[in-house]
Amino acid sequence: MWTVGTVLSILCNARYTGYQVWNKQRTTEVLVDPCDVAVGVHQVRRGNPGSSWVWSRRPAHPAIVSLENFDRAQVAPVILGTSRAYVFRGLLRCGFCQRSMEGSWTNNRPNYRCRQGHHRNVFIREDKVAEHLGALLIRAVAASQNRSDLEMIDVPRALAGQVAMCRSMGLTFTYQPDIPALVTVVRGESIIIMM
Ligand SMILES: [Zn+2]
Repeated sequence: MWTVGTVLSILCNARYTGYQVWNKQRTTEVLVDPCDVAVGVHQVRRGNPGSSWVWSRRPAHPAIVSLENFDRAQVAPVILGTSRAYVFRGLLRCGFCQRSMEGSWTNNRPNYRCRQGHHRNVFIREDKVAEHLGALLIRAVAASQNRSDLEMIDVPRALAGQVAMCRSMGLTFTYQPDIPALVTVVRGESIIIMM
């Protein structure tokens, strides 16, 4: 039978976007009996967080689900009340105090905020950050590889793939609300994307 869960699991399956995705799971050894180590271990498959998935740069087979629908489906479990996912968790810093911005679910969408007492509240919608991530990533790759051929730099088109790439490059972004802009530093060079 088709249930909401069935549809959601199809929309959330990264392979249906046409891209090949690796490292979705890992194999872990678990003690069969924690009270008796002599019994030995058995192997179990555990899911890795979306941030550590590895996406192919280009589509590998025809898509069933568009990247846009895949990205939108990532927040569906939140809407259904099963979990809360903030893709930029730990990646966004507040331009006033440099602390990590916290996820905040308001107006039926994910946002990030900083509410430190000594400066005014800082708030940014997740989709506003997502809109600029590809451009920021291209500039960051250019800076890290010392390249000027920006149009030749390939970054994943799916937001999940872009976020995974940011995490693997160790990038964090500072949101400067007064400009407004996103800033990241690569090899001592500040990259600024106006929002
Ligand atoms: Zn702050």
